Amino acid sequence: MSEHASAGGQPMIEIAGISKHFGQFRALNNVSLQVQRGEVMMIIGPSGSGKSTLLRCINHLEVPDSGRVAVDGTPVDNNERHINAVRAEVGMVFQRFELFPHLTVLDNICLAQQKVRKRSRQESQRVARELLEKVGIPEQAAKHPPQLSGGQQQRVAIARALAMQPKVMLFDEPTSALDPEMIKEVLDVMLDLAREGMTMVVVSHEMGFARNAAHKVVFMDQGTIVEQGAPDVVFTNPQHERTKLFLSRIL
Ligand code: ADP
Ligand code: MG
Repeated sequence: MSEHASAGGQPMIEIAGISKHFGQFRALNNVSLQVQRGEVMMIIGPSGSGKSTLLRCINHLEVPDSGRVAVDGTPVDNNERHINAVRAEVGMVFQRFELFPHLTVLDNICLAQQKVRKRSRQESQRVARELLEKVGIPEQAAKHPPQLSGGQQQRVAIARALAMQPKVMLFDEPTSALDPEMIKEVLDVMLDLAREGMTMVVVSHEMGFARNAAHKVVFMDQGTIVEQGAPDVVFTNPQHERTKLFLSRIL
């Protein structure tokens, strides 16, 4: 595994003491986390532990009750200019793809490029075709998402996010809706991205990916970070009982 650029400088993502309630329920409890440039961070933890909420606070899909978030120095607050700036720089890939079914694959990848990046139709199509090549499905450009397999749809979703040339990619359980035979084709694309130095935060329990690509694994439980460290350390020598119990269930 290559060394990421963690030495010095401002972190790409800075999360400082954020909490988030849904009604009386505390989904995040004073969570602090830094993601360095080029770092690949995996977030693991039981269902309901706050993983998605944490990820969604990074691009203002959820708004923390307290604490601060910044992406590449831009505060993620209620200032619309800040929110738009951060959303343009942060790509997100969801469990359920979230593609537009009535648009072709190519147009799915072109839409935000034209609307947000103000690229011409021709230029955005050039970028889209290049990215479809990169994710291994150049022949699917003219189809509609429902005609594609789950693995292909997820690769379109990744290409769509990459078309914005994001500084950061967030993945929320990108393979958990996929049939087993399609998981590898998506993980391989993510592995390529990691090797190219993309800053990534990945919520996933794919241990192979964690061992091959992650610089750091963060274990969450009940809205808090219980422990974090290098994958081989967290997986082979977890320090906390809750981490041991969780790992014994998934490994
Ligand atoms: P995870 O991704 O680790 O499974 P989530 O971040 O999705 O966990 O959710 C953490 C907790 O917050 C869960 O108990 C969930 O039910 C609750 N929660 C998440 N989003 C909402 C919401 N919009 N409204 C109410 N409760 C929510
Ligand atoms: Mg989740």
